[in-house]
Amino acid sequence: MPLRVGGLTPLSATDYPGELAAVVYCQGCPWRCGYCHNPHLLPRRTAGGIAWSEVLGFLRRRRGLLDALVFSGGEPTAQPGLVLAMREAKALGYRIGLHSAGIYPRRFSEVLPLVDWVGFDAKAPFDAAYERITGVRASGEAALASARALLASGVDCEFRTTWHAGFLSPAELERLSATLAGLGVRRYALQEFRASDGVAFRPEGIPVAADVDALARRFPQFCVRRA
Ligand code: SF4
Repeated sequence: MPLRVGGLTPLSATDYPGELAAVVYCQGCPWRCGYCHNPHLLPRRTAGGIAWSEVLGFLRRRRGLLDALVFSGGEPTAQPGLVLAMREAKALGYRIGLHSAGIYPRRFSEVLPLVDWVGFDAKAPFDAAYERITGVRASGEAALASARALLASGVDCEFRTTWHAGFLSPAELERLSATLAGLGVRRYALQEFRASDGVAFRPEGIPVAADVDALARRFPQFCVRRA
């Protein structure tokens, strides 16, 4: 079945480090993070998507002008069509980027040999805190299995966490970063939660400053992306 695509960004300089990329937004995600910025991409199907064949046509026309294609979402690994779509884009000469929360470890591992760079969304310590964020049981186990597979593969990657003390305490953030560092993560980005139009979710409580310096010391490369 062809990849279901909810949207396409024809040019981005920020979704794949150092590369000019197009971004395809894969339709569908089984998790329900309150802060999701792409709620229209969560249903498996929607009216008004883009046919994968159209994306391929676009990629053929842009050969030599773009370096990479990033599969984002939604959750790309939710779709069986991801493998073939990646192969087809790679055959056209594109480097392949993947934004994923590691929701489906088996498919995540299957596509890793096709992928050149991964932005991995690590949401919380990989225990009950994950379920609190995603609304889905055992989501932390799935994410941890994918994170381990990614790090074992040697594929270039960045781990990132969307953070606000209203949904993840500084102590939990500390615990997550210690786990990631222990797993061997070398590049970590803390992304401040940003309320935006169309996202009803508002974190509770007053933000408490995290000890960013302590986080930074755990990783060879670390940055904070301010809201
Ligand atoms: S995993 Fe990502 S796409 Fe899915 S609900 Fe959470 S933030 Fe949204």
